[in-house]
Amino acid sequence: MALVVQKYGGTSVANCRRIKRVAQKVIARKEEGDDVVVVLSAMAGQTNYLLGLAMEMQAQPDKRELDVLLSTGEQVTISLFSMAVKSLGHDARSFLGYQIPVETDDSHSKARIQNIPTDKLAEAIDKGIIPVVAGFQGVTTDGDITTLGRGGSDTTAVAVAVALGADVCEIYTDVDGVYTTDPNICPSARKIERISYEEMLEMASLGAKVLEIRSVEFAMRYGMPIHVRSSFTSAPGTMVVKEDESMEDVLVSSVTYSRDEARITVKKVPDRPGIAAMIFNPISEANIIVDMIIQNTRAGDLTDMTFTVPKADFDQAMSIVEKTAQDIGAESVAGDKNIAKVSIVGVGMRNHAGIASKMFDILAKHNVNILMISTSEIKVSCIIDEKYTELAVRALHEGFGLDKKE
Ligand code: ASP
Ligand code: MG
Repeated sequence: MALVVQKYGGTSVANCRRIKRVAQKVIARKEEGDDVVVVLSAMAGQTNYLLGLAMEMQAQPDKRELDVLLSTGEQVTISLFSMAVKSLGHDARSFLGYQIPVETDDSHSKARIQNIPTDKLAEAIDKGIIPVVAGFQGVTTDGDITTLGRGGSDTTAVAVAVALGADVCEIYTDVDGVYTTDPNICPSARKIERISYEEMLEMASLGAKVLEIRSVEFAMRYGMPIHVRSSFTSAPGTMVVKEDESMEDVLVSSVTYSRDEARITVKKVPDRPGIAAMIFNPISEANIIVDMIIQNTRAGDLTDMTFTVPKADFDQAMSIVEKTAQDIGAESVAGDKNIAKVSIVGVGMRNHAGIASKMFDILAKHNVNILMISTSEIKVSCIIDEKYTELAVRALHEGFGLDKKE
């Protein structure tokens, strides 16, 4: 008998029919003898819908009020779900964040969980009642409602699992696991059976959208195994777990891509101490996150500074940088939105040489020009022209032997 926390995402509870189906699934698991705690997202599209309403009131909605509004999406699904369970002859009880309480700090719209007392959940479990927890929401010590950031129900689920000392946190979604790359652009992508937290974290930050990053960080910190699986089948999905030795035999475990970045180059910057700080301080003050940075030296004490920012922040970043360029006497600023980042990820890279150069070879063979490169212990990323994204992903997937073996 195990204690399992199951989280169902928005598509799994998108309408009454699906909510009933999830209720049946949960009950079936309980009847097998496991204790189940359920965490739910809002119905698919609901949080965006509410956000749209808020924007009609205020261009920049008040954060405290926005959290009160957005948290209602999950209130709808947990209550409907509990009714569905009862209609099937079992007992369930819904819990809003403040009722448990899921205690958070007061940073509205991106609150951090600080503590989850387990007495109420444990009491329900003891009585054979299925606790149904609203994802994504918490409460401050002053009693204000908070939300954890978009996709935050994953974090609620992992945090509840850790607090209860559950055996596993199962995240049910509309895909049947974590894939070696995006199956939509690479039909030969395979489902990965087991992957380490670190690889999953890299993949999430490099563009893979299966799990919310913070939930993986949380799980890694407390060693909580996550099982990512589909709510539409009963097939096992992907286990996200602590790294083990066998994982190091696989050099590259996945290929990811992101079209969410843009590139900015400041040309002919006078090369003297303090210049990088002058360029990047105003950007970080505007809360824009810079990812890759490259500095190329030119003749005559001049240098080019190239970096990437999120595409959504490109226009703002450009106007900030154009002003800085004037102040420091740089020649010009150039921007390019049509770029993509393709990356290979694998813990095996730590102990094997030549992975990066193999990546460059594969891209060269397919005539894909590399614009920027960055590496970490377990990943290599290349910025390329956006129009080669799919070609590059397929070539790397095949080149590193990740294709499905028929
Ligand atoms: N409903 C929230 C969102 O759409 C939280 C979640 O689904 O995880 O971001
Ligand atoms: Mg989600």
